Amino acid sequence: MIRALYPGTFDPIHNGHIDIATRASRIFDEVVVAVYDAPPKKLLFTTEERVQMASAALTHLPNVSVISYRGLTVSCARSVDAQVIVRGLRNVADFEFEHQIGWANHQLAPEIELCCLFCNGEYANLSATILKEVASLGGDYRQWAPEHVRLALQRKFPEADSAALPNVVSRSDGKLSHHG
Ligand code: ADP
Repeated sequence: MIRALYPGTFDPIHNGHIDIATRASRIFDEVVVAVYDAPPKKLLFTTEERVQMASAALTHLPNVSVISYRGLTVSCARSVDAQVIVRGLRNVADFEFEHQIGWANHQLAPEIELCCLFCNGEYANLSATILKEVASLGGDYRQWAPEHVRLALQRKFPEADSAALPNVVSRSDGKLSHHG
């Protein structure tokens, strides 16, 4: 029996994450999605909210469960008896990051293998950061996240008005912003 751990921040879970979890569930007997409790970055959702959204997004996959964790990812993998860590790769930047962190994890826990899955091309540029930014500015992101995640984002950004789309312009710093 091979159990895989799919760790990440999932702030919030989106279709790119769901694609990786779905494909991992076809490869491994069990997949444990592990929501990192306290990453060194500012989060929009609490750990409980992120776990709930991930669980709701993955209920259709019977061999996938969702937990939260603190501390080292390899310690979490050991504590749930996972032999493999799964990560998704979107681009070369992801590859370089995973290569480095994979090296460190291998030093710490050589018995745990790393399995990187290339993401579906459709989601190659999708990140939770982009999702949150578009949501906060009232853009249409229906194709990027399930309905319950969209509702949760709407609750976080009640002032975002999808009718504001025509006012959205590109700024020179590459961020999306309201006109004016
Ligand atoms: P991080 O762990 O860097 O905080 P996330 O929590 O957002 O990043 O992502 C968790 C995992 O999902 C990582 O392996 C990440 O590469 C992967 N991932 C993120 N976005 C996508 C996407 N659009 N398609 C496929 N995999 C993705």
